[in-house]
Amino acid sequence: MDFNLKRILSKVEYNSLIGVLVGFAATLLVLNIYITSNSVFLVKVKGNEIGYIKGKEIVNIVEDKIKSTDGIDIAKDIEVVTYTNIKTATLDEHQLEAKVRKELGLKIPAYVVTIGNEKVATLQNQKEYESLLETLKKRYTPNYSGIKNVEINAFKIDQNIKTTVEFVNANQIEDVDEVAEKIIKGRLKEEKYVVKEGDTIWKITMDLGYSIDQIASYNPSLNLEKIKPGQEIKIVKNEPYFNVEMELTIASNEEVPCDVEEIKDNQMAKGKTVVKQEGSNGLAEVRKKVKVVNGSIIDETLLVSKLVKEPQKKVVVVGTKQSNLVASGAFIRPSRGGITSYFGRRWGRMHEGVDIGAPTGTPIHAADAGKVVYSGWMSGYGKVIMIEHGNGYRTVYGHASKLYVSEGTRVSKGQLIAAVGSTGRSTGPHLHFEVRKNGVPQNPLKYIK
Ligand SMILES: [Zn+2]
Repeated sequence: MDFNLKRILSKVEYNSLIGVLVGFAATLLVLNIYITSNSVFLVKVKGNEIGYIKGKEIVNIVEDKIKSTDGIDIAKDIEVVTYTNIKTATLDEHQLEAKVRKELGLKIPAYVVTIGNEKVATLQNQKEYESLLETLKKRYTPNYSGIKNVEINAFKIDQNIKTTVEFVNANQIEDVDEVAEKIIKGRLKEEKYVVKEGDTIWKITMDLGYSIDQIASYNPSLNLEKIKPGQEIKIVKNEPYFNVEMELTIASNEEVPCDVEEIKDNQMAKGKTVVKQEGSNGLAEVRKKVKVVNGSIIDETLLVSKLVKEPQKKVVVVGTKQSNLVASGAFIRPSRGGITSYFGRRWGRMHEGVDIGAPTGTPIHAADAGKVVYSGWMSGYGKVIMIEHGNGYRTVYGHASKLYVSEGTRVSKGQLIAAVGSTGRSTGPHLHFEVRKNGVPQNPLKYIK
């Protein structure tokens, strides 16, 4: 028993000695690592300092890589200097390669974005590509008044986008914002428009949404005033490289429009309105799901709407009284008597009105309200009055014996304006009555029945 205890004790002492030795070795090792980690290497290319590295071997890696991609031996241009005990930022293999390439005027690695067969962007690195996507998200997020918060739930590009690392000249690297602008604007695509029967260049520009100058610039050799059906006109459209679809949750304050109540007032002139009570719009806190394609909202689903301010009704008084000095658009028969001659061809001549037979002195009334634009003698008509009704119509009252209103007078519908007579080319007392629509004689019986 005693013997055993002694042996065990001595074993403990032995083990602790080994422990001390191992600990000492470990300390030496840590010290060694500490020294190594504190020495860095300065890299010079053709004598110019380009940065520090941690391990000399990455210079060899970069030299080998450039030799294999560019077929150039750059070892003679590179000098490595050891520094100890300085603290500084160091370059990794990729950063060193980029710097060496730049210094030697070699092609530099770039992050190339390709859609289909088309290179859309040449960016410095993947981080820039991610920044491009962030920029697109921002640019395509709708921004209208009242938005408080926008969450992007989904972001999708409807084309296969390929990204590769390629070596390009430094000046080919594009700016993220410029690439975003280019994508938003889209690529130009030529199309042909075939002129249809009845097309004019004015109609085409209106339909297609181009200015005449734009169409002229796309078709420099075409005489746009003389286009013919079947002819082709070149137009240039902006076509997106890809469509960006986003699903958003938008929290916003939205105006709730107020109701408008109309009170009719037959004592107030038609067309006149008076606000009796000013209304005000209400306000609602709204949360909705919104689907956006290239920045345009194409679908909305209301999630929550909470009215925070009630809208106040607006009350408006609307006049309905027809002013008798404003043309009503309907004519009354201007005098008593029967029709003695109808509108149309008569004895080989055009009769541009109707004749109403009545004794001399019978009152003639204005067929509708308007302004007297002629009152006097006119060859053939004798004493005549012309009224402009202001709605495209004019009426003419001929062969009168007396004129009661002068040029420039405003007359109401039914107002006495003249007396029947037989002046001018006339075979007996009658009223010659004409209705002209935009200068063209109409059959008055269609209007006064
Ligand atoms: Zn006549």
